[in-house]
Amino acid sequence: MQYDVVVIGSGPGGYVGAIRCAQLGLKTAVVEKYKTYGGTCLNVGCIPSKALLDSSEHYHNAAHTFTTHGINLKDLKVDMKQMIARKDDVVAQNTAGITYLFKKNKIDAFEGVASFEDKNTILVTKADGSTEKLTTKNVIIATGSKPTALPFLPVDKKRIITSTEALTLKEVPKTMVVIGGGVIGLELGSVYARLGTKVTVVEFAPSIISTMDAGLGKELQRVLKKSLGMEFLTSHKVTGASVKGKVVTVTADNAKGEAVKLEADYCIVAVGRTAYTQGLGLEKIGITPEERGNKIPVNDHLETAVKGVYAIGDVVKGAMLAHKAEDEGIYVAETIAGQKPHINYNLIPGVVYTWPEVASVGQTEEQLKAAGVKYKAGSFPFKASGRAKASMDTDGFVKVLADEKTDEILGVHMIGPRAADMIAEAVVAMEFRASAEDVARICHAHPTYTEALKEAALAATENRAIHI
Ligand code: FAD
Repeated sequence: MQYDVVVIGSGPGGYVGAIRCAQLGLKTAVVEKYKTYGGTCLNVGCIPSKALLDSSEHYHNAAHTFTTHGINLKDLKVDMKQMIARKDDVVAQNTAGITYLFKKNKIDAFEGVASFEDKNTILVTKADGSTEKLTTKNVIIATGSKPTALPFLPVDKKRIITSTEALTLKEVPKTMVVIGGGVIGLELGSVYARLGTKVTVVEFAPSIISTMDAGLGKELQRVLKKSLGMEFLTSHKVTGASVKGKVVTVTADNAKGEAVKLEADYCIVAVGRTAYTQGLGLEKIGITPEERGNKIPVNDHLETAVKGVYAIGDVVKGAMLAHKAEDEGIYVAETIAGQKPHINYNLIPGVVYTWPEVASVGQTEEQLKAAGVKYKAGSFPFKASGRAKASMDTDGFVKVLADEKTDEILGVHMIGPRAADMIAEAVVAMEFRASAEDVARICHAHPTYTEALKEAALAATENRAIHI
């Protein structure tokens, strides 16, 4: 079969790109090596982690805040088997949705490992060893990423585990060490801390979520310690981990270079993800991944050094996020179809689905200072929000950073209830190059958490927030 486009990988980059190709009238095939579609995101990433975050949040609220609301429950306990089964069901619904969308859009889907014979020929090797050749005008590589392995930290997938195994634990551990205070480590650490596990996070950097605006990490660490009892060992360099029976021992050096030893039932290694290109046969078409991070080099149009071969999502530079992969899938599909699409990489929001949620878009204060940009900052705390008081979600704040002269919003950083959804307003405003004054003058429904963004915008423009 001759295709216009063969997409390798069915994660959010691959499946969205394939659907857009098909919408544009391109004859499209997808090759996926796993039995279900949706890649990391749907199978072992965004969706299952959020399913467990939601379940564990219900439990934590029932155990700790319901009585304050006047709701008394007796004999509350966690049914881990059911919690995991519900998560599996959510994953199954989502992956089945992709199968439906492929059929609806008349996309041919092949199960097997795809590798290049040459730039126009993809060999599909199936589980039974049989092969099939697909010829194509264009290829989109969307093979994603895998958890980064540390050479001195052997992951046995039983006690020393990655995020993938952490989504299927059969018990609530008594103790857990999470190596890495980034998004994935904090989300999964939160799941277990909410269920009653004593969680200790070990982080190399001096703060957690260290790539986000510094104020966010500080506040998140404070709240997670207060509400979930999570411990944080920042500025600690992990040196090793070993398993004896059911006990994991993690060793680290603290900031003074002193050795620290931690024991736990489980250890999640969440130190980042590495681009995945294994078995693609890139050498056959003359593509060499970058030494650091294994990313496939692409130009501004996401085209590799080989004409007609594109790469998107986690396997290329930039944020390793599902929505970035999706937008790149659409970008490449439209480019192949002869259109002139655009992605604003400055406005890709970043979210941490802890509680409170953390969300960010645009420049951080640290970035603006480093670039010598003169800016104004306005903050509004949720403790002054009527809506937040009603729901008892008073931790956190919204911060708006605006250009000192033009008042254009340069960054919005928030930690608080439903920040993951609220950040969308900031993204829209910034996409239209709104000033802080513009947002401050837009009518926001009362009482909503979104009023905190309006108040922060008011604070950024002549310090005129109303409720603080
Ligand atoms: P992937 O989703 O990794 O998909 C790649 C696919 O390619 C896989 O299905 C793989 O099997 C297939 N493949 C690889 N090689 C071949 C081959 N040779 N032949 C055929 N198929 C092949 N991001 C967010 O934006 N929000 C979140 O809340 C979020 N939560 C996360 C939680 C966790 C625990 C993890 C691990 C990740 C999370 N992410 C989140 C990140 C997100 O999952 C990734 O950024 C996203 O999945 C990347 O999409 P992709 O299409 O580039 O690759």
